Amino acid sequence: MSESLEALRAQLDAINEDILHALNRRARIVEEIGRLKLKQGINRFDPVRERAMLDHLVSINEGPFDDQTIRSLFKQIFAASLQLQKKQHEQALLVSRARKPENTVVYVGDVAVGGEHPVIIAGPCSVESEAQTAQVAEVVAGLGLKFLRGGAFKPRTSPYDFQGLGLEGLKILREVANRYDLRVVSEIMTPGDLEVAADYVDVIQIGARNMQNFNLLKAVGALDKPVLLKRGMAATIEEFKFAAEYILSHGNPNVILTERGIRTYEKATRNTLDISAVPILKQETHLPVLVDVTHAAGRRDILLPLAKAALAAGADGVMIEVHPDPNTALSDAQQQIDLDQFRMFYQELTKNVPVFI
Ligand code: PEP
Ligand code: MN
Repeated sequence: MSESLEALRAQLDAINEDILHALNRRARIVEEIGRLKLKQGINRFDPVRERAMLDHLVSINEGPFDDQTIRSLFKQIFAASLQLQKKQHEQALLVSRARKPENTVVYVGDVAVGGEHPVIIAGPCSVESEAQTAQVAEVVAGLGLKFLRGGAFKPRTSPYDFQGLGLEGLKILREVANRYDLRVVSEIMTPGDLEVAADYVDVIQIGARNMQNFNLLKAVGALDKPVLLKRGMAATIEEFKFAAEYILSHGNPNVILTERGIRTYEKATRNTLDISAVPILKQETHLPVLVDVTHAAGRRDILLPLAKAALAAGADGVMIEVHPDPNTALSDAQQQIDLDQFRMFYQELTKNVPVFI
């Protein structure tokens, strides 16, 4: 009796092994199909084909498993195969670290983002005047930093709020940045403004509200200029990666990802800084990752700890809004810091990280 039980168990073990090898043989064919579909741009999931395979299996089913059980067992196998193809597709993305293991360093002229030293991109929310911009630039350059930010085309929630100085703002930024040997980061909201912006801006910023403006993404993908892409306020990390993929797939590899907080139910901050996005994006992509602490927090009193957290989590730098007189600012008055506060912010950060650019 016990001998025949042993023998039956041995048979089961052998069948289990057969099933295992058959499943993996099947998986390799699924991967091969996945590669073909990827090349031809065909959708991974084919419900008609799945239905046909199930119907066929049920039609030849001799039991003792009933048809319903056969269907649900094979559906599990199909789902696992689809998962395999999904993983394969993700690894094939141009942004993916599986595709390009080494870090991408984005050079803005001779200044590296994602290189040896973290960066601080500082400047006013909006360019308001030459004097206001120059005051900030003087401090930024005085600290040895290299990037000046400032909005000229402002994506404002209300159409009645200050919309930015437009081209005039870009001219101010360029002129001031040249005076202090700084690189200009500024948001462009529409493909039509890209050509003229190219003369004034060193890094094109795509704002959170435009992260899925696919025409804009394609247009900056065709440029020979670095792009700072903000995460949309309601975008998943996967959607963020796909937005970057648009830019890379249109020919521009120089993308800097920027986490800037996502909208949650929490009201203590304007957005919720998704700090986990930093190590996840660093793991899953090869692109530099920054954190915009100002728009994440929406308040100036917690910017320093957020910046420390960002760097500790592996960010390649931070963005912060600085204004000579934040209370009179034409946009984001409650979240910008003044020049002294910025010097202190810099000093405190350099206690942990000695060199910023
Ligand atoms: C900005 O940086 O000026 C800005 C508007 O940020 P966001 O797009 O992240 O809201
Ligand atoms: Mn702002």
